[in-house]
Amino acid sequence: MAERRVRVRFAPSPTGPLHIGGVRTALYNYLFAKQNNGDMILRIEDTDSSRFVPGAEAYIKEALEWLGIKFSEGVGYGGNYGPYRQSERRDIYRKYVDQLLESGHAYIAFDTPAQLEEKRKEIANFQYDAQTRGQMTNSLTLSKEEVDERIARGDVYVVRAKIEPGEEIVVHDLIRGDVTINSTILDDKVLYKSADNLPTYHLANIVDDHLMEVSHVIRGEEWLPSAPLHVLLYRFFGWEDTMPQFAHLSLLLKPEGSGKLSKRDGDRLGFPVFPLEWHDPATGAISSGYREAGYEPEAVVNFLALLGWNPGDDSEVMTMDELCQKFSLSRCAKSGARFDYEKGKWFNHTYLQEKSNEELAVKFAEVVKAKGYEADMKKLVAMVDAVKGRCTFATEIWANAAFYFETPTTYNEKDRQKRWKETTPDILAAAREMFANMSDELFGNAAEAEPFVSQWCADNNYKMGDVMNPLRLALVGEMKGPHMFQITTILGKAETLLRIDNAIAAMRS
Ligand code: GLU
Repeated sequence: MAERRVRVRFAPSPTGPLHIGGVRTALYNYLFAKQNNGDMILRIEDTDSSRFVPGAEAYIKEALEWLGIKFSEGVGYGGNYGPYRQSERRDIYRKYVDQLLESGHAYIAFDTPAQLEEKRKEIANFQYDAQTRGQMTNSLTLSKEEVDERIARGDVYVVRAKIEPGEEIVVHDLIRGDVTINSTILDDKVLYKSADNLPTYHLANIVDDHLMEVSHVIRGEEWLPSAPLHVLLYRFFGWEDTMPQFAHLSLLLKPEGSGKLSKRDGDRLGFPVFPLEWHDPATGAISSGYREAGYEPEAVVNFLALLGWNPGDDSEVMTMDELCQKFSLSRCAKSGARFDYEKGKWFNHTYLQEKSNEELAVKFAEVVKAKGYEADMKKLVAMVDAVKGRCTFATEIWANAAFYFETPTTYNEKDRQKRWKETTPDILAAAREMFANMSDELFGNAAEAEPFVSQWCADNNYKMGDVMNPLRLALVGEMKGPHMFQITTILGKAETLLRIDNAIAAMRS
């Protein structure tokens, strides 16, 4: 068979915010498409109107755009296979429902919800299938006339797949190998509902994958149980030759214990499970997002890529382009991938360090301004350079650099007891004179100031620590902060001297 053009789709249902596991599915589809110069389609599967949530579709698009997961085709992106929103494809599906009815692979069922409920009470583990369909109200048990009459008078009905029992169905899965199940365990799934003239997920999904010439279906493990029915539907329609290849990704597991990662784990352990903050339109509840938590999108992508896939070597930090090159479905894990939030933070720290100081300083300037301070770009760049190593998120830069703007008025009590000895005021006074006498050029040059000061300590028989520790406390207010000369050079001589004077006064009072 000739090589098929790679066409993959991400097919979310707009039922709420996209979970981080769904983001990973989108990412793997994207990596696979890019790697194979294929197409990446966004299809919105909104045939279940009862679960529709306003804003969910826009949220999904915004989230994936933020992460750099791009579509070449689909809702909002155009393409030759549209419309790409299933609710706009009603007219397309009806023909395929009729085709299945005509070929006898589906039948019409009139059972009301109350009747089905009755049956469930009567028969333990009731399932609508070959065993039970003969006792139900459907086109297999009613005469043709009665079926026509019911339809003519407007009775609501569904169309169900007619699954023959006792057959081994094989799903060829690119990650799991052959998954075989016996058709006896399947139920006669509803494919279409007359009430809203819409197909269910199963039918719409198959018809659209076929019509959109999808070559690979890469989706979460939760869809594996649907795959045998999907294989059967391809056969019922006579589309086996162009059936997409399946790849079912492993689950994202809780950070600890067993089970699937849930929003509750995130709430309990303090991390987001959604890419962007989500405001629930029904309840007004707000769920946190990676973007608002201060994550760099590249870090989230890198982190997610490695949750359930490995490159086969020990590379960890990879750009989107590198991921596109290295990705392979055969290296995707069969078993669940444990969610490790600390690793996510590690990635963010790593990506933050790779950002240029200039880029970070531009955003930092806004924060500084909002706090009511001013500094020129050169200083802001120097501050970012001094503190970013200590930051996991760009949003932490302010907390680490605030001391540059705010002259300490108090000193950390514990540090003070430990670092301020009896001799300290005199030592600091001597250091003050030394700084005051330095040329501005020397003072402003960290590389030269440092050896100069250490020589001064040696010449005066001061231990470095006896000078540097109280000095840090005087300049920062606590025993934290960047390298000493990244403090003094940025503060400038006047402010440095002022802070030393303040500290001496505080010690002496
Ligand atoms: N609409 C399904 C979902 O919400 C699509 C599953 C699939 O990819 O087939 O994930």
